[in-house]
Amino acid sequence: QRRVVIVGAGMAGVQTAVALREEGWPGTITLLGAEPHRPYDRPPLSKAVLLGAAEAHPGPGGPESPATFDVDFAALGVELLLGRHVTALRPAERHLVTAEGTVPYDRLVIATGAEPVPLPGGETAPGVHMLRTLDDALRLRPVLAAQREVVVVGAGWIGAEFATAAREAGCPVTVVEAADRPLAGALPAEVAERMAGWYAESGARLLTGSRVAAVEPGAVLLADGSRIRAGAVVVGIGARPATGWLAGSGVELCEGGAVRADDRLRTTVPDVYAAGDCASFPSARYGERLLVHHWDNALQGPAAVAAHIVRGGAEVPRYDPVPYFWSEQFGRFVQYAGHHAGADRMVWRGDPGNASWSVCWLREGTLVALLAVGRPRDLAQGRKLIGAGARLDPERAADPSVPLKSA
Ligand code: FAD
Repeated sequence: QRRVVIVGAGMAGVQTAVALREEGWPGTITLLGAEPHRPYDRPPLSKAVLLGAAEAHPGPGGPESPATFDVDFAALGVELLLGRHVTALRPAERHLVTAEGTVPYDRLVIATGAEPVPLPGGETAPGVHMLRTLDDALRLRPVLAAQREVVVVGAGWIGAEFATAAREAGCPVTVVEAADRPLAGALPAEVAERMAGWYAESGARLLTGSRVAAVEPGAVLLADGSRIRAGAVVVGIGARPATGWLAGSGVELCEGGAVRADDRLRTTVPDVYAAGDCASFPSARYGERLLVHHWDNALQGPAAVAAHIVRGGAEVPRYDPVPYFWSEQFGRFVQYAGHHAGADRMVWRGDPGNASWSVCWLREGTLVALLAVGRPRDLAQGRKLIGAGARLDPERAADPSVPLKSA
């Protein structure tokens, strides 16, 4: 029997196992995960799990929570090996190395996701937290429950969601951001500036253009010499692919550490695939390589990998999704589809001073990306239009009363 082994039991790993069975894979499937917990989903970690709305309770293999995937691995015939950290890949021998011994494979799927970037020199300081794993979220719950003063480093997606939850819990919150605005890496200044106000509205203090120089007991020292009291520090300054274990394996990595996959999510080593937060792929749609650190990509990529493993050949379409993600922050539902570049034409759809509005990005008249704040219908229509490569009339698109699909 042919054996597929999947490394990483997060969204991408679990979805690969599920998709392989959906495709009718007849062989064995082994899913290895470094964490001791039953596989779980990450988006609830910065939302319900953090606030304790979703009660975690101990279960076999560690605490479980409603973030746990509702997948019956035994019924799917998936061998689940938890608490197994893979340290190396040896393609010549077709096996993986773990502390408990080697694991042979015929086809291998790399789904080791990403790990948060630590604060330089601050990773071991007491009271410094990350927010990537269930254990991280469970460690942060008492901080929120005790309404400790929190300093959040980084005003990205994770920083914004954590600040939202901490304010909801009643913690005094200061967010320290090195750039001059939130989400500087993701959105243009005109758009991100609108989001800066959301922090103040929630009662969080946002310090832009500020850098953390050091974390001291009970305080954060900024580069300008000022000190902010901190009962806890939460670092959200980005994540990088968890691919260090592939060193020397022959699997080619891109700059920044992502696995270099092709348009069918194959790596540079035969019979080795990669999906989710750890892999970048060439997008013909956008004419560049994309590394997507969002949930939907960890859902779609595995379907493509499974189709290729089971059916192979040219009949399997290239992997070229319209990227999609959402974020729940400061009482708003923020969604983004597509991918834009600085040169694309921006069209506002509605007044950003209002509760709901959208922004479209057009490239030579074609819709390439859309940001929707509290306008899920724009998102749903826009995502389809982007997929179809539809042209939009910028005048009509700017009118929020015209359905996007008619613009
Ligand atoms: P991961 O979820 O990181 O899973 C990889 C797994 O591999 C991990 O469990 C890890 O322990 C394991 N692993 C790593 N190295 C090894 C090894 N050497 N051996 C064995 N196992 C290993 N996206 C959205 O679109 N919307 C959201 O609202 C949203 N909210 C989020 C909130 C939080 C707090 C976080 C952290 C992420 C959020 N995301 C969100 C992003 C989304 O969760 C990720 O894109 C998704 O989890 C990626 O799945 P993955 O399987 O590729 O990686």
